[in-house]
Amino acid sequence: MKNVLICNPNSYDIDIYMPYIYGLLRRMCDVDPYLKEELNWSHPIYLNLTPDKLLKDYDLQSIDVLGLSCYTWNRKLNYKIAECVKKANPSCIIIEGGPEPDSEDHPNAYLNKYSLVDIIVKREADHSLPLIMKEIINQTYEYEKIPGLIVNGFGDTGPVVYNRIYPDSIYIRYEDVYTKIANDLISSKKKPVQLLEGDRGCPYQCAFCNKGGYSYKETTFTPIEAIYQDIDWGGRNQVYYVDIINSNYGRFERDVGIAKKLVETKTKYGHPEIAFYSGAKTHAKEMAKILIELKKGGMLQHHLVALQTTNKAALKAANRINMTHEDYLYLAKISAEYDIPACSQFILGLPGDSYEGTIKSFTDVMDMGLFDNFMLFPYQVLPGSLAYTQDYRDKWELKTVVRHNQRQRRKITQKTDHTSETEYLVGCSTFSKETYIKMWTFSAAILAYVGGNITRFLSSYLRLTHDISYIDFYSSFVEDFLTNPEYTFMSDINEKIYEHQHRFVYGDDVDNSFYEFPHHDMNGFRSMFECDEYILISTLLHFDVFKAEFFRYILSKYSHIENIESILKFQTDLVITQDYNLSKTIYVDRNWVDYFNQAKKNLWVGKLDEPTNERKVYLIKQHYSGPNKEYLLKWNDYEGDKRKFEYIEAVVGTMYKRSDRCIFDINEMVLQ
Ligand code: SF4
Repeated sequence: MKNVLICNPNSYDIDIYMPYIYGLLRRMCDVDPYLKEELNWSHPIYLNLTPDKLLKDYDLQSIDVLGLSCYTWNRKLNYKIAECVKKANPSCIIIEGGPEPDSEDHPNAYLNKYSLVDIIVKREADHSLPLIMKEIINQTYEYEKIPGLIVNGFGDTGPVVYNRIYPDSIYIRYEDVYTKIANDLISSKKKPVQLLEGDRGCPYQCAFCNKGGYSYKETTFTPIEAIYQDIDWGGRNQVYYVDIINSNYGRFERDVGIAKKLVETKTKYGHPEIAFYSGAKTHAKEMAKILIELKKGGMLQHHLVALQTTNKAALKAANRINMTHEDYLYLAKISAEYDIPACSQFILGLPGDSYEGTIKSFTDVMDMGLFDNFMLFPYQVLPGSLAYTQDYRDKWELKTVVRHNQRQRRKITQKTDHTSETEYLVGCSTFSKETYIKMWTFSAAILAYVGGNITRFLSSYLRLTHDISYIDFYSSFVEDFLTNPEYTFMSDINEKIYEHQHRFVYGDDVDNSFYEFPHHDMNGFRSMFECDEYILISTLLHFDVFKAEFFRYILSKYSHIENIESILKFQTDLVITQDYNLSKTIYVDRNWVDYFNQAKKNLWVGKLDEPTNERKVYLIKQHYSGPNKEYLLKWNDYEGDKRKFEYIEAVVGTMYKRSDRCIFDINEMVLQ
């Protein structure tokens, strides 16, 4: 009998992904009666704590096989755990898998560097893992005859053999293990997250992705009954949300049935509360049905539009096939009709892109009405992706830096704890490093001011009624206002983020060149922020100063527009500032509420007449903000820094959760 421990630490420490991989790996072996008899599987490691804490309940000397599931967020921690186990039991076999090891491109260099790893399983383990286990049990250790591995001391054993078998529900098969995990998490006030794999395989080959068809395009399906059992288990065990990990959820008709089952389950048990997924790049009709089902069931935070860019040159360089413009518009209409916030997702620094392309991408989605929120990810050159290959690097003249992987709200006191270093692209043949910084600044400004709703109403009014395009408005906003030394408050923000961006792009010290950085107005706050958060926080904490410069800029540029002062006042009155104490009176001289309710239905892109000339007084008594009204506006219970921190935490969401956080909901305005 051999003892096996699977180690799959999380990235975050509140919403915890349950270790789906544990069940997958165990089932690969358990379907063979001999292996089922001969292997003893320890309770898996899944939290992100120090190795001491994670290993304290295990007898390290008795671990015969340690399986590490590695990705950018946990590789370093996994290696520390492996060191501890190997020290206690030098004969323990360390097997590494997951998308992270850059073993396929540089197998020998990799194993020279990480010599404590005995075997790397390339991509999928269904075929190779049972064979490895037999070699270990029989003490023959002839791994070199098993295809799909990198073996320490031998090298690459050849191409992966794909042999996916999905006979049943992982969560039911190993119900005792997963139920214990869910219970342990809930009792320690953490939220269990369930991974749901409806199908595996992707027909595409996006250059930045290590999951797609670069290796294996065929799709394999989990039986629908097994998925329904998985979902039912999640409901019964109070999982907070499910993350559907299909590469293109919505690509198959049965995906609509999965959405219905999720909603039914939530109705029955109250859980899972929310569903996340990565949507199909085609099949707009199925996507629409899924959006409607999940929205009606109260399970949707937003409609995620993972388009990455609209720049055709960048799409081509990335091998990326996006939906058609018509399909995006169709889904935008569904989102508007069912009041589902649309969140457009971008990658910063795609080869083929440019500063102009970045501006156009962001303003294109505004033109399509898909701009309730934004997500931005810096381009990571991931091992296993096409971009990682030497041919691709040479073709696009990639310039990269090694940095700790991006981490939302990285803790200041534990900057480098448990995060791995990874390669970020900061320049290529189509943009220099300085242009990369400009692209980043523009993107961050959009995330802060449009995602944060500080300029949305104003720019939409100018677009809808005065034909001033979003591209003109926001190009000028960044170039003539944010980066203009004449506006000292704004240019000071710009200087601060430039200094930080410069360090990220050019810095020599990986432990001092993060994607995130501390905010100087938030001394004592536990975490660092990304550039867009930095901009938004600066703006909100000094809103009167911002407002004075903003008025000066807008009034000098758009003075010919009769209602410009009125809309500026309305827009800035809507911002939830630190002096708000659960009641605010707003005076308007135009009917902006009706105007913007109509604009919303019009997808923010049609044509609208000026608002009617009506003086009105509204009272706002909003106690919560956020798309689901989940953030309590309660900072007035506190004083000093604590009050400031509570304010910022209530109104500034991370990019995942920013939409509607720092402005009042116009539908909560009560006419007096
Ligand atoms: S990004 Fe999505 S669509 Fe593209 S290859 Fe990866 S999984 Fe497939």
